[in-house]
Amino acid sequence: TQEAEARERGLPARTRDGHALAIGANVNTPDQVPFALSQGAEGVGLMRTEFLFLERGETPGEDDQYATYRAMLEALRGRPLIVRALDIGGDKQVPHLALPKEENPFLGVRGARLLLRRPDLMEPQLRALYRAAKDGVPADAPGGKDAPLSIMFPMITSVPEVLALRDACERIRAEIAAPAVPLGIMIEVPAAAIQADALAAHCDFFSIGTNDLTQYALAIDRQNTELAPEADSLHPAVLRLVRMTCEGAARHGRFVGVCGGIAGDPFGAGLLAGLGVHELSMTPRDLPAVKARLRAASLAELKALAEEACAQPDAAAVRALDRSSGDRAE
Ligand code: PEP
Ligand code: MG
Repeated sequence: TQEAEARERGLPARTRDGHALAIGANVNTPDQVPFALSQGAEGVGLMRTEFLFLERGETPGEDDQYATYRAMLEALRGRPLIVRALDIGGDKQVPHLALPKEENPFLGVRGARLLLRRPDLMEPQLRALYRAAKDGVPADAPGGKDAPLSIMFPMITSVPEVLALRDACERIRAEIAAPAVPLGIMIEVPAAAIQADALAAHCDFFSIGTNDLTQYALAIDRQNTELAPEADSLHPAVLRLVRMTCEGAARHGRFVGVCGGIAGDPFGAGLLAGLGVHELSMTPRDLPAVKARLRAASLAELKALAEEACAQPDAAAVRALDRSSGDRAE
């Protein structure tokens, strides 16, 4: 029945052997939150903020941004919200910013690289976020009265970038006497996955962007339709980078999420859990199937499956493990 389905969607993504994964939704606007919650989201694991810049044809001011972040926190009523700082460049172009044209925008001034060069874009956003964290919102979900806000930065490649971004955050936080908020980074460049241990020393959490990590690891433009069938996030090379990221994070006790598309694939979600990921954040409509698959699995099985997947020669062989594990279960 519909009621039973709704109840099932609200259950935690706890494996048969008792390991619970945090489940978030990728949601950009407050009006999308109720649907995400109805599908079983426990919070928002990725709020892309580019839309704030794209939809109006002008750069939103600090107050405008503050109102949006606050409305997100209000809609979530105490559930966690991870806001990603502006990720412009590559496939995400904002015409009105009139940024210099680049030969290879995916390898150019994008994400954190742009933020560090353009304090006029970064600082109002950070101030709006810290104001939202300071003001808090009423909560009826676990998490109390404080706004459970985290900030993360896209396209990180190096430790100095993280240190510079942290400095900027701390300066702005101190200026308005806001509380500290967890600061995380996206792992979406192979260099960041390989150096995860070094990066983990300087941030509070990771969120793996498997869309870009796949693009950069396999050298396939994510928009190239000819090569799209080969741009598979379940390629063993990508899975090994995810494994390295989890190992690096574990050395410093850091939390690892995944917010790329493969987190919303039931088989992929199981592999990610087996590799040591703690949180999966996805398009709301993918939530029920992922939660159901995780509840049907055991973490011990998923760990074994993930190791087997990393040892496969190619993505097709990894995907074939899905069928064989299905056969075994029957
Ligand atoms: C990713 O790269 O996987 C990601 C989640 O970010 P985006 O798709 O916005 O680049
Ligand atoms: Mg990305």
